[in-house]
Amino acid sequence: MPRVDEATRELFEAALAVRANAHAPYSRFAVGAAIRAENGRVYTGCNVENAAYPQGTCAEAGAISAMVADGQRRIVAVLTVTGGEAVSTCCGGCRQRIREFGDPQTPIYAAGLEGVRGSFTLDELLPHSFGPENLRGS
Ligand SMILES: [Zn+2]
Repeated sequence: MPRVDEATRELFEAALAVRANAHAPYSRFAVGAAIRAENGRVYTGCNVENAAYPQGTCAEAGAISAMVADGQRRIVAVLTVTGGEAVSTCCGGCRQRIREFGDPQTPIYAAGLEGVRGSFTLDELLPHSFGPENLRGS
C-alpha cells in the first residue's frame, strides 16, 4: 500500500473488513466503505444486492446511514475497497450522498484489496455540485 497516514489506514482496514459481509450474489462485486465522521468515529457499510436488482444499496449508502443513525452529520473522509484491477471510485449517486454531509475538499480514497489506489476530493469527483446550501434563500 502507498504511504498513507494512520487515520487513512484505519479507514482501509475497516472497509476491507466490512467488505467481507457484502451481499453481492448477482454482480459478485463486493464493496466495503468506511467513513470518518466529525466526532472521529468510523462508520462502515457494504453493498447489499437484491433479486429485484434496483433495490440493492451501495456500501457508501450503508455507511452514511450508520453515521446519521448515530447522530452525526459531517463526513471528514471516505474510503472504499473493491476487487478487480481498476481504480473504482464511488458511483454518481454516492458522490451526491457524500455531498450532503461533506464539502468540496472532503477526501475520497479508492482502494483495492492491497491498499489505496487513488485519492480524490469530492470536488474532483463531483464538480460544480448541488448541495444543501443551494436551497438556502430560495
Ligand atoms: Zn454508490
